[in-house]
Parts: sequence; C-alpha cells; structure tokens
Amino acid sequence: MGWKIFSFFFFLIVVLLLVFYWIIPVGRIVNFGQGTSGDGNSNFTLGNSTEGMQFYENMRYQNKDISYKIEGCPIAKMDEMNRAFQKIGGLTVLTFYEASVLGEEEISITCDSSAKVEGRTFIAGEGGVTNVTATDNFNVIFNGMVLLLREGQCSDPIVGTHELLHALGFDHSNNQNNIMYPTINCGQTLGEDIPSYINWLYSFPSLPDLSLEDASATTNGNYLDVSVTLKNEGLIDSGSAKLIVYADEKNVKELDVLPVSVGAGRILTLTNVFLLRGSADEIKLSVDYSYNEFNKDNNVIVLNAN
Ligand SMILES: [Zn+2]
Repeated sequence: MGWKIFSFFFFLIVVLLLVFYWIIPVGRIVNFGQGTSGDGNSNFTLGNSTEGMQFYENMRYQNKDISYKIEGCPIAKMDEMNRAFQKIGGLTVLTFYEASVLGEEEISITCDSSAKVEGRTFIAGEGGVTNVTATDNFNVIFNGMVLLLREGQCSDPIVGTHELLHALGFDHSNNQNNIMYPTINCGQTLGEDIPSYINWLYSFPSLPDLSLEDASATTNGNYLDVSVTLKNEGLIDSGSAKLIVYADEKNVKELDVLPVSVGAGRILTLTNVFLLRGSADEIKLSVDYSYNEFNKDNNVIVLNAN
C-alpha cells in the first residue's frame, strides 16, 4: 500500500515539474524586429502636373455618386447649381443626386449670405470642404459646402461650377482663362486637366484598406507578447476582421477585431500568448479580412528574432 502512495506522489511531482517547465517563463527574453516583407504602407504618388490642383493631395469623396442638398436658394441660383452638376457629371465619372433627408447630404448648397465667413469677401460665392479625413492613400472628403451669393451672369454655369469644384477639393488656378481663377469672367473654361484628374481619383473602388503597422513582439520563455497597430487606409469603414498570430508558421492566437472606420487605427496588444514549442524564430501577424479591400499586401507583418 505504502509504495503505491509513494509512486502516486512521485508521478504528481513529475507532472508538476513538467507543468512548471512549460508554464513558468524560465527562458531568455527575445525581441523581434520587423523583416522586409509587409511594410504596411501602400502610398501612391502623383505626377507633377496635378500638384497643387487641390487643397490637399488626392482629395475625393467616398463614392463617385455624391449626394447634395440645396437649401434656401431662389430658382435662378438653384438652376445655376443644377447646371453645374450636369456640367461636371457630363465630363467626369461623377454623378450627383439629391439627398432624401436634409443633413445627410455630402455637399450642402446654401444661398443665405448670413452663413458667410467673417472677415473674407466673396465676389460670387464660396465653396470648400468642411470635413476631411487623411489616410495614407487619400484625403477623404465627407462634407463640402457651396455658398452661392450671386446669380450666374454667364451662359455657362461658371459660378456654380467654380464653387462645386472647390467642394470637390480643387483650389484656385493662376490662369485667368481657367474656371478656377479667383475672379469670375464668362469666357473662362474648365480645361481637360481637372476632369481627367477627377476620373483618375474616382477610378479607385470604394473599399476599405486594413493595414498593419508598428508591430513588435517579445518572447519570455514560453510566453509571447505582441503589439501592432491596425489602421483603415481605405475609403469606407471596414467590417470586422481577425488578427492571427503565427509563431514559426503555427497559428498560436486569434483575436476578433471590431470594424475600423476610415482613417482610424487601433492598437492591438496580446500578452502571455503561450508557445507550446517554447520559442520561435519568426512571428507573423496577419489580418484575416474576408471581404474585398484596396490592398491585401499590407495585411501581413513578419518579425524575426534579433
Ligand atoms: Zn474660388
């Protein structure tokens, strides 16, 4: 009877030692550095010809169908604006539609001069962007505005088009004959550069773009700590995703990630991820996103043990 108790306790001690060996971090601390693959950024650059055309680089709305609302304008100014929408819509891939609910429109058109900004004088009106979010790829316009102060006097909707282009992110031109020259005259034309730039900007599909950046990993014995920033560099909010941690190609942890809105980022931190094999030479972080996105290349970061 006595030896049975002894062997049971011996067995227990062996199990406890094994547990101790596996669970308690006794190994060396290893820091991981980022490898060459999966740099995270996917910037595209513009040619010099379009530089300075817009207030910021690559300004566009989320979709090529852009909503608007005209509030408090007399018929003549409404007509000026509608002809401007037709003009830009006819020359580009953009379409403009009236928002069904006031306040939900992307471009707000008003004619009330009391809305004028203090300390600035406007010859015919004002247009601009009021809500922009910067991402790696675009400056995404959520809202723009047009204030029409004077009726258009030209056969072409010069005033309305000029202000609409401001609301689309376009700045003034130094060319007197261009519609974006600060002072309006009826002979001004739009030219080809603005429509072709608009068509290029809106040739990119309206998708999210999840991107991993600033990753770090440390092992302490059997335990792995990981930190990484997940950003959405796309044009629309993402759906939910999953962060998967691989140690030497073996899936060691999965983390559900909530949707990320445009331009937003989230720092994801995992501590004490247990590594059964005790150590790893390579840690790979991967965002598993089952829907379409702008670029899948920035969804993976590989870290190597230093
Ligand atoms: Zn202007």
